Amino acid sequence: MTTAMTGHQVHPGVGKTLSGDDTVELKPECFAKAAGVKNIRVVDPYDLKLLEQVLRQELERNELSVVVCRRICVLLEKLDKNNVVAIEQGKCNKCGVCIRFGCPAIQLRDGSYTINELLCTGCDVCAAVCKKVRY
Ligand code: SF4
Ligand code: SF4
Repeated sequence: MTTAMTGHQVHPGVGKTLSGDDTVELKPECFAKAAGVKNIRVVDPYDLKLLEQVLRQELERNELSVVVCRRICVLLEKLDKNNVVAIEQGKCNKCGVCIRFGCPAIQLRDGSYTINELLCTGCDVCAAVCKKVRY
């Protein structure tokens, strides 16, 4: 929901022109439908269980599917929420699962898994990944 690679400008995909005026919201799923794709799914990529379920379902098909992952950019979301989380060190068993799913805010420092507050956007995805620790 932004032009992430060049500086967070709006674009017709978010219903705005470059000058900020309202315009028709161009959605990828509409282009897919216009191209004749029958299997079109729209999911929140931070809902990991649902995303995995949808990907498995669509990969089982013997025809084309389009899966659109839609969510506000984490940097814009952080401006709204800013709810940074932390790992409860007393409950962490140091299994290392959280650091492998790719969030740059999760770090291994001096033998402990910690969250860098400057990088954390408060998205809560790590809470879905780690079942043993409350964030
Ligand atoms: S996944 Fe959970 S228990 Fe494992 S290292 Fe990360 S915070 Fe600790
Ligand atoms: S997954 Fe989200 S909430 Fe967890 S540390 Fe990374 S940015 Fe923060």
